[in-house]
Amino acid sequence: MAYVDVKNREKAIKMIENRGVTIEEIANVTLLIQKEYIPELTLEDCVENILKVLEKTEVQNVIFTGLALDMLCEQNLLPDPLDKMVKSDYSLYGVDEILALGIVNVYGSIGFTNFGYVDKVKIGVIKTVDEMGKNTDKCMTFMDDIIGGLAAAAASRIAHNRYGKIIGK
Ligand code: MG
Repeated sequence: MAYVDVKNREKAIKMIENRGVTIEEIANVTLLIQKEYIPELTLEDCVENILKVLEKTEVQNVIFTGLALDMLCEQNLLPDPLDKMVKSDYSLYGVDEILALGIVNVYGSIGFTNFGYVDKVKIGVIKTVDEMGKNTDKCMTFMDDIIGGLAAAAASRIAHNRYGKIIGK
């Protein structure tokens, strides 16, 4: 069930920003995915849609959980063997992607397709975050999937609303 919690949305935004990524940067990924289909789409529209996605409690809970694991990993507080898998972004770990699917799950099959695309192509800030995780002592194992999930969910929300308008005519 998609509950809305505006107070925790602010905490989720702060947590994402403290990890080095802005809402505008995530919205820009949404814009890059969707502008091919909706040429008049603006960055402001995408920011608005990211903020709507962030209202949902299950989205917030994914952020709180995933980013906490990244932070605990940086502080060497995860137990063995989880510490090694999260630190190295071990390719067969997979829980980072599974957790982020909880974000797009709210938006149906189009959300899953968009997430798969974003995960593979690593557009914009997702590439930056992925490289930061690989080349610095920052742990970004959950972060890249979370921001990919947010961008994909907002793109799906935009697509749903547009389709809704068309069939509503
Ligand atoms: Mg990851």
